[in-house]
Amino acid sequence: MSGVPGPAWPSWWQERAARRAPPPPRPPLEGSRDVDVAVVGAGFTGLWTSITLADRHPGLRIAVVERERVGFGASGRNGGFAMTMVGRSIHDLVRKVGPRDARAVHLAMGGTLNRIERFCAAEGIDAELSRPGLLTVSNGPEQDVRIEQDLAASRRLGLDDLTPLDAPGCRALVAAAGVRRGHLEENALLVNPAALALGLAAAAERRGVAIHERSAVTRLEGDPDGVVLHTPEGALRAGRALLATNAYAHAVPRLRRFLFTVCAYIVCTEPLSDAHWARVGWDRRLGVEDRRVMPHFHRPTPDGRILWGGRDAPVSRVGPDPRRDRDPRIFGRLEQTFRSAFPQLDDVRVTEAWGGPVGATVSCLPHVGWLHPGRVAYALGYSGHGVGPSALVARVAADLLMERDSPLLRLPLVTRRPIPMPPGPLRWSLLDAAQRVLQAADDRGGARGPVGRGLVRLLQ
Ligand SMILES: Cc1cc2nc3c(=O)[nH]c(=O)nc-3n(C[C@H](O)[C@H](O)[C@H](O)COP(=O)(O)OP(=O)(O)OC[C@H]3O[C@@H](n4cnc5c(N)ncnc54)[C@H](O)[C@@H]3O)c2cc1C
Repeated sequence: MSGVPGPAWPSWWQERAARRAPPPPRPPLEGSRDVDVAVVGAGFTGLWTSITLADRHPGLRIAVVERERVGFGASGRNGGFAMTMVGRSIHDLVRKVGPRDARAVHLAMGGTLNRIERFCAAEGIDAELSRPGLLTVSNGPEQDVRIEQDLAASRRLGLDDLTPLDAPGCRALVAAAGVRRGHLEENALLVNPAALALGLAAAAERRGVAIHERSAVTRLEGDPDGVVLHTPEGALRAGRALLATNAYAHAVPRLRRFLFTVCAYIVCTEPLSDAHWARVGWDRRLGVEDRRVMPHFHRPTPDGRILWGGRDAPVSRVGPDPRRDRDPRIFGRLEQTFRSAFPQLDDVRVTEAWGGPVGATVSCLPHVGWLHPGRVAYALGYSGHGVGPSALVARVAADLLMERDSPLLRLPLVTRRPIPMPPGPLRWSLLDAAQRVLQAADDRGGARGPVGRGLVRLLQ
């Protein structure tokens, strides 16, 4: 982010953030340097982890090395929904990790959202943050079932933080077509994600963390005292290192066993007039998701646009690939679904579109663990839900790196082993087929055949 808006920015958020507060240039790593902890990747995970470490261990020498610029990856391009959700939904989380662990994760996430809000206020980070809540809606009978499952799971955990809404209740919040019912969670933030990433970088630097941009780690090498991270112009000798590269960890064969890259896309309208807003009645300006298996999400932006994303999420066999950041066919489909949901906005133009890489796992849960015990750790795999969870994962990663015994290390994000995928071409055939089946089931309002139904049941 050089401060000059233009095509070099993958997303509208990054352009906006750089226009509002041009970030300082951060020089690449040159020569050899010794630190206690090296963090690879200046997205939310890497930045929150370096801040957590610096706060907990004053004097610890910490450096972040970033291949491009701060917030270049998914952190600067997402929808900006910071939710309690870890995995796909509260129902899905209970099913995967059991009620006790699901409750622990959910409560930890509730506290994490409060912490993000407090941190931004205390550090003067203008992340255009609001706390309007999250409305999750159903657009079909199969989605009605999922809404009820979420409500049942939440009640079962004694959380009581989802309010059921009927169709008029949902439409009173946002007048979108086709909505049948939903639930409202008050504890959910909306942010400008690129501004948050830049603000976190500045906060890390205020704590003495060094951030080197345009410093791709090309090789890791064991060292008697830890690990050496090689970049094109330098080498970072560190006691410990954290790989916070999410989807980009595709480059690491051992992580690629359980991590795959999905391309996610967003379109965004021009700013709406007051008359347009009156037509949708979106007074509370909250975030909205539907309950497809591959959901749509939409939200107002701080300057009065509607951001609309989700649905298509093709797998990239080669990991993050900038050539796939723009896909006119997918942008066209997103515009179509936006127009079906808001026919009353037919005179509003869609003016922005972008995409980015999502690091996904089979369980849809993020994982924190050691790649090389005591030397190199990883924290990744949010499966499209990392804005809020990355701030929790960072505290887990900080505890793991410093071998500090804490209840966070007993969360399933650490204790559950990632599910490996089949090696070779079989993996891609299975992932591609699964995507096609899920997409068709969502579009049709239900899966056909036992395989399709089984797959949808697994992920709903
Ligand atoms: C279009 C889209 C919409 C999304 N919407 C939402 C949403 O609304 N809510 C939500 O919760 N989540 C959302 N997500 C997911 C969320 O953005 C991610 O889970 C989160 O940003 C992950 O942060 P991260 O720091 O782990 O990874 P990233 O932000 O991807 O950061 C990784 C960084 O590592 C750097 N890097 C890679 N390789 C190297 C290397 N070799 N050396 C040095 N640096 C390297 C990259 O340049 C990058 O900056 C969305 C994602 C996308 C793409």
